[in-house]
Amino acid sequence: MGDPVLHSIASPVGEVTDEIRTLVADMFETMDAAPGVGLAAPQVGVGLRIYTYSYPDDDGEPWRGVILDPVLWMTPPEPGTPDDDDESEGCLSFPGERFPLRRSDEVRVTGTDLEGAPVEIHVTGWRARIMQHEFDHLNGILYIDRLDDADWKTVQKIARKRGWGRPGSSWQPGVDDIDA
Ligand code: ZN
Repeated sequence: MGDPVLHSIASPVGEVTDEIRTLVADMFETMDAAPGVGLAAPQVGVGLRIYTYSYPDDDGEPWRGVILDPVLWMTPPEPGTPDDDDESEGCLSFPGERFPLRRSDEVRVTGTDLEGAPVEIHVTGWRARIMQHEFDHLNGILYIDRLDDADWKTVQKIARKRGWGRPGSSWQPGVDDIDA
């Protein structure tokens, strides 16, 4: 939080180069080491429209992938107050915290994969939440930006205490302790 790349609109990827392939391999490694259920390129300091995701189903069946230059369609979120237990999310760019946030229950995402082939994802529930969270990252939006006033104040307090909210702070998944 606070680094300009996290608060800016990311650029289209266009052609997939070796550099992009290396970046994506690194993003998968970082996401798994965190561990996280998704990771957007701006979170590793790269302002490109790419995110990875990984969310196994209840039987441990993997559901993971990468999407480049995604477009997201969603049904409007249900009105009402989000549930603390069922609708709380977290973010590797505001680590160690979770806040409730209402999201749409169903999304469709189109984009391309690393081979330039079209990708279409149609998901509900937590997977739809992940898609919305990661897509937001590509538009410079952190989930904390979407919280209600009371939680936003808490976020500001935490950020002040930990020295976040300005450029230059980072942590290395698998190396640094996020609760430090
Ligand atoms: Zn995030």
